[in-house]
Amino acid sequence: MYDYDLLVIGSGPGGQKAAIAAAKLDRRVAIVDRRDMVGGVCINTGTIPSKTLREAVLYLTGMTQREMYGQSYRLKDDITVGDLSSRTQHVIGREIDVIRSQLSRNRVTLLIGTASFIDAHTISIKGTDEIDERRVHAEKIIIATGTRPARPGTVDFDGRTVVDSDQILSLDKIPGSMVVVGAGVIGIEYASMFAALGTKVTVVERRDRMLDFCDVEIVEALKYHLRDLAVTFRFRESVLSVGRHNGGTLTLLESGKRLPADTVMYSAGRQGLTTALNLANAGLSADNRGRIKVGSDFRTEIDHIFAVGDVIGFPALAATSMEQGRLAAYAACGEDVHVMRHDLMPIGIYTIPEISYVGSTEDELTERAVPFEVGVARYRELARGQIVGDSYGMLKLLVSSVDRKLLGVHVFGTGATELVHIGQTVMGCDGTIDYLVDAVFNYPTLAESYKVAALDAMNKMRAIARFSG
Ligand SMILES: Cc1cc2nc3c(=O)[nH]c(=O)nc-3n(C[C@H](O)[C@H](O)[C@H](O)COP(=O)(O)OP(=O)(O)OC[C@H]3O[C@@H](n4cnc5c(N)ncnc54)[C@H](O)[C@@H]3O)c2cc1C
Repeated sequence: MYDYDLLVIGSGPGGQKAAIAAAKLDRRVAIVDRRDMVGGVCINTGTIPSKTLREAVLYLTGMTQREMYGQSYRLKDDITVGDLSSRTQHVIGREIDVIRSQLSRNRVTLLIGTASFIDAHTISIKGTDEIDERRVHAEKIIIATGTRPARPGTVDFDGRTVVDSDQILSLDKIPGSMVVVGAGVIGIEYASMFAALGTKVTVVERRDRMLDFCDVEIVEALKYHLRDLAVTFRFRESVLSVGRHNGGTLTLLESGKRLPADTVMYSAGRQGLTTALNLANAGLSADNRGRIKVGSDFRTEIDHIFAVGDVIGFPALAATSMEQGRLAAYAACGEDVHVMRHDLMPIGIYTIPEISYVGSTEDELTERAVPFEVGVARYRELARGQIVGDSYGMLKLLVSSVDRKLLGVHVFGTGATELVHIGQTVMGCDGTIDYLVDAVFNYPTLAESYKVAALDAMNKMRAIARFSG
């Protein structure tokens, strides 16, 4: 009766993992996406290009080597857009290949076009040509259509001088100056990459702080580093208008300040891609930011339709979208599904330097009146820190003063997004810092910072115990 047991709309991380998980359970699966978007935002315009660009910037500018070879050290003096995009295009091409091959190896049919609901089990798939339409019937459907950058209607985006976070990847030259509107993760990541390339960056943010979900001390350290790269922060400022002229742009702030710059990048949140889906035909709807509501097993209000990834909102990460996709596929196939542990979800921010954390922040613990001790390790005191030339990095452990359980891990500096997973594992196993104190780590490594920080916390707790008799 149905063409497929499961049809997945969108081939980003959520859709891919859903399709493959269902195929492994011997279901007949198809996945739909536009020809130029196989792999989703993740591979084509988001995670992969931005992280590859960061790697190219670090390599070509020689930034990570300057503590050793001096502040004037560069691998290449005149870095061009071509130098940067050749690396991103190479990685994107390889990643698309990997995905196509994984889908075909698992017998997942890739249908090219834009999907929309005809009814709750029937999907129309249209190619670029309006007469090129096919209809497929599926028993279960997973929506994984992701998001696009939100664009304020008052700003005229031309894709060259006034751009969003998708268009920034196709600039024709590296701007001498840039205004970044919005100090969220994407805005700050790009601000730090362009600052490293020598662009004079001004960040405009309506709120009075940035990345307010992160550890305050670590965000302060990041701001210090970015200011050192000539980034100017304008907090509690809103953009009134952005004008374009021959020489570039002029951003007018509500406070009356004028910011001339070659380029303006807007990074003002993202909007769920649900309009084209005609959700109403399936009995569904989206909120004003295009997001679809789901339950803990990613089921929508319609029993056989699921939604995963950015289209369901927070946390909107490739990392979480993949797991949501897998779990939704299990639920759709009638398998047991565990509930995702949000308390163990890592956050990785690929600024220069990078930040990562898992668990609670000091502010959250204080607010909840949870007694804790802090253990800190600084990279400059680790042999590996000296070897790699990272004197600013740090790892901070938040430890329960009651039972020595690890409550939070916050890392700043080289390898932060990798290192955090050691702490995540200890927390996932409900471990205490005794394990970290007793374990032998390879030497010299940055991982050794766990032992140093655990000893620091342990010694502080011992001292307090001595005082308290
Ligand atoms: C600049 C940037 C940097 C990022 N960096 C990171 C990072 O470092 N780490 C991290 O974990 N996350 C990062 N993210 C977030 C990450 O990219 C997203 O969380 C992830 O891509 C969401 O996956 P998804 O499965 O929801 O689908 P997406 O990757 O958003 O893909 C959705 C797909 O659905 C398709 N689609 C939409 N509508 C239809 C339709 N009607 N018919 C057919 N197909 C349709 C689209 O063409 C698209 O290919 C970043 C995002 C951006 C923008």
